[in-house]
Amino acid sequence: MRATQLYAPTLRESPAEAELVSHKLMYRAGLIRKAAGGLYSYLPLGWRTMKKIMQIIREEMDAKGGQEVMMPIVQPAEMWQESGRWAVYGDEMMRLKDRHGREFALGPTHEEMITTLIRDEVRSYKQLPLMLYQIQNKYRDEIRPRFGLMRSREFVMKDLYSFDRDVDGMNVSYDKMYDAYSKIFTRCGLKFRAVEADNGAIGGGHSHEFTVLAPSGESSIAYCTACDYAASDEKAPLNPIPAEAEELRPLEKVSTPDCHTIELVKNFLHVPIEKTIKAVAFMDDDERLIVAFVRGDHDVNEIKVLNVVEGANHLYMAGEKLIADANSVAGFMSPIGLADSAIVVVDQTVMQMSNAVAGANERDAHFVNVTPRRDFDAGKIIVADIRMVQAGDPCPHCGKPLSMTRGIEVGQVFTLGKKYSEALHATFLDEDGKTKTFEMGCYGIGVGRTMAAAIEQNNDADGIIWPRAIAPFEVVVVPVNAKDAAQLNLATEIYDELAAAGVDVLLDDRTERAGVKFKDCDLIGYPLRVTVSPKTLASGDVEVKIRRGGQMMHFARGELVTKVVELLETL
Ligand code: ATP
Ligand code: MG
Repeated sequence: MRATQLYAPTLRESPAEAELVSHKLMYRAGLIRKAAGGLYSYLPLGWRTMKKIMQIIREEMDAKGGQEVMMPIVQPAEMWQESGRWAVYGDEMMRLKDRHGREFALGPTHEEMITTLIRDEVRSYKQLPLMLYQIQNKYRDEIRPRFGLMRSREFVMKDLYSFDRDVDGMNVSYDKMYDAYSKIFTRCGLKFRAVEADNGAIGGGHSHEFTVLAPSGESSIAYCTACDYAASDEKAPLNPIPAEAEELRPLEKVSTPDCHTIELVKNFLHVPIEKTIKAVAFMDDDERLIVAFVRGDHDVNEIKVLNVVEGANHLYMAGEKLIADANSVAGFMSPIGLADSAIVVVDQTVMQMSNAVAGANERDAHFVNVTPRRDFDAGKIIVADIRMVQAGDPCPHCGKPLSMTRGIEVGQVFTLGKKYSEALHATFLDEDGKTKTFEMGCYGIGVGRTMAAAIEQNNDADGIIWPRAIAPFEVVVVPVNAKDAAQLNLATEIYDELAAAGVDVLLDDRTERAGVKFKDCDLIGYPLRVTVSPKTLASGDVEVKIRRGGQMMHFARGELVTKVVELLETL
């Protein structure tokens, strides 16, 4: 391809709304343009990268036995009503009506569509296992579309669905997809972790999020530097922290005027924060008071609380009245003496504490020498792991301290079990002649988000630094002065040879100043730049610049193509 024929409008400025470097660079390098909030056009360079990512995905899906299909984006409401999600999906679902007033949705995902497709066609165990996937636009009316392609309202997703006879089969499909995802993101040149994810809502199954490590990411993850363990901060299971044995002192109530926060009470009583017990009061949809207790330096993990309180689906902050009804007062809550109307959830680490400080359920008073295993009424409390992971907590696999980092979720793998097959009555006849319900899995990758994540991880002050496998072009050949016939001829010759050797190459034959062209090359981020200058013509040596690190190399004209191909292998 010649740059004179390429539509690649580069810009010096990025849009004011762009916060992330990937968003800015995609704009400036001419990869995308915005149509409206969360709706983007992909320009030729952006789409080339998207196609390369999709190709990698296709190859790895096919290698595991996946078969590509294409289902409608426009989905009838009936399917969603049958699964029960028409009501649940809420405002994120983009809905429309046809001319007869029938309701439809623009597909945010395709579990309903594929399950109804399969249930009418796949009748026998002999047709299983089955893995079908598609790569197409998905629609979600995100409450806050932002960060360019990272969280948009229309985005390209690969979604694969697996159908198996039994749970073992489903787990085999899951492992295959897990492996395929690891290969895909490795081939894309990304630094990522497969993170154990929370799947409380679905229950029982497994889920991993494939998360690209980047400080700008929206997900917070805990990971071990000693083993390959990683979990989202919502999930990360923790063991109780044992406390040192000490002589137990009698429980005592003390006056703590205005000490309604842990900070204030610890300073007032001169105790370390690890010796305090913090209360957080929630209310659920049934207006039940749920009070969670964690060590003063820990934070409550609401998802874990929800998972242990039967019947609770959402948590809200409890109001003063609800707290007063339980004989307590905000800022001074404690399990000792709280009314039975309150559901008390105590973190397992709290149960290890001795001689600690906790509220006294009355204004301006605390208990000291609280020893939960002695002072709490065990029959009335739920003891569980309910705190957020934090840096330094021991890894649940190997015990070494965990680190925290941020990341971008680019893909997720999920076992669904019978959730959709049961709701939509999708069954088959098994070998034993019995009718059984499919065991399913679903597996998504955000293609645009993967492109954005790759830029987040690979850039410098001058622009993008593409991993070779997903660069819009692998090599750019730049005649410094394209008006000089000798330079242009030599550059064209090199370009032809590289193309013949299978290199994805661009010839920058624009008659712009060299400085302008070099700036564009760096901004767009081609992994290698081959420069043809008057010096090249004189010496026969050709200059090659590696975008990552900026190293310049010189090769004799005769060995140039071999050397460039070799170099590319290392990028
Ligand atoms: P998130 O928690 O970020 O909203 P999700 O859990 O809703 O993601 P899935 O339903 O698992 O996402 O979709 C599969 C993949 O699609 C995600 O891993 C992500 O890469 C991508 N994706 C989801 N929502 C968006 C979006 N609004 N814009 C771009 N990509 C998205
Ligand atoms: Mg989402």
